[in-house]
Amino acid sequence: MEKGLSESKVSVFMNCVICRRPEIAAGFTSIAFERDEVTLVINSVPTQICRNCGEAYLEEDINIHLLGLVEEIVEEGITHGEYDYTELVDKK
Ligand SMILES: [Zn+2]
Repeated sequence: MEKGLSESKVSVFMNCVICRRPEIAAGFTSIAFERDEVTLVINSVPTQICRNCGEAYLEEDINIHLLGLVEEIVEEGITHGEYDYTELVDKK
């Protein structure tokens, strides 16, 4: 009798790595980028977030997309600001 490895993997992923509780659910978070002169904050970023301790688990494709958006803002010569992720995406 073999126990399903995939089942245990799913449950491990769904437990928060900080507080170990299975409280992770879809939500939104704010991400701050600070680099040299640049301080940009992106609000309303869709993410998986721990309802117990607030730890955010950003998906890799969203993270990459976010970095691209920040690069575009910096290329426009903007170094400080606060943006809404959904507004930035809507502009495309
Ligand atoms: Zn947690």
